[in-house]
Amino acid sequence: MEFKDKVVIVTGGSRGIGKSIAESFKQDGAEVIITYKNSVNGEHFDSLGIKHFQCDVADIKAVQSLTEEIVKQFGKIDILVNNAGVTKDGLLMRMSEEDWDIVIDTNLKGVFNFIKSVTRPMMGKRYGKIVNITSISGIMGNPGQANYSASKAGVIGLTKSVAKELASRNINVNAVAPGFIETEMTDKLSDDVKQNYLNSIPLKRFASADEVSALVKFLSSDKSSYITGQTICIDGGLVM
Ligand code: NDP
Repeated sequence: MEFKDKVVIVTGGSRGIGKSIAESFKQDGAEVIITYKNSVNGEHFDSLGIKHFQCDVADIKAVQSLTEEIVKQFGKIDILVNNAGVTKDGLLMRMSEEDWDIVIDTNLKGVFNFIKSVTRPMMGKRYGKIVNITSISGIMGNPGQANYSASKAGVIGLTKSVAKELASRNINVNAVAPGFIETEMTDKLSDDVKQNYLNSIPLKRFASADEVSALVKFLSSDKSSYITGQTICIDGGLVM
């Protein structure tokens, strides 16, 4: 029960990596709140005792009112995992302004919105762990992902600046950069693209969402208290 009495928010926790993170924190005793944008299997999360709220991360007013409600109910927010993310892939020449904006607003502004909203309650308690899910695309770039790579590179810069701003308040801010994780987001890639990735991954396999949640939990625990401002790749050795 490593996270007993900790209050944890996981954005985009309804499926994929976020779901695994949320369920894993719950198993370790935390009070867990997930957000989603479109739909959620409410019965499933109710049965686990995980609270779920529809809240578009790109909407700062919705984010602020949700975090205020959580603080009212639980008195604090200990851990924030900024996991919600979308892709709208396409070559830059053909990429619409709308597809650029959706990805930047969700993946980058969404992280800003949530960090801004939890900062005051965390500073008040002089305790906080923030983990932002970025991507190796934000480090390496990826053809067809100019919007996504820019958003995820932005998250890495944001992580470093905020880590420096909040360090004196005992708040650690780190990023996790997954490579290829088996979720709905990657299901939609063609077999050719998947095979190409596989060929260049030294460990010669994709990862499960549970492997990412183990790293997120380490960075959210007091075992990693001297780590801040870092981006840790979990990618089978693709980036090294
Ligand atoms: P999924 O597509 O499986 O799940 C995305 C989650 O984000 C869903 O819960 C979705 O909710 C939520 N979400 C999307 N947009 C919003 C929004 N505007 N507001 C609130 N919630 C939103 O993604 P993954 O689990 O694969 O990815 C999770 C994170 O990991 C993302 O940030 C992604 O970029 C990153 N990542 C994933 C990799 C992979 O290989 N899968 C590799 C590298 C990084 P809803 O269903 O309601 O839209």
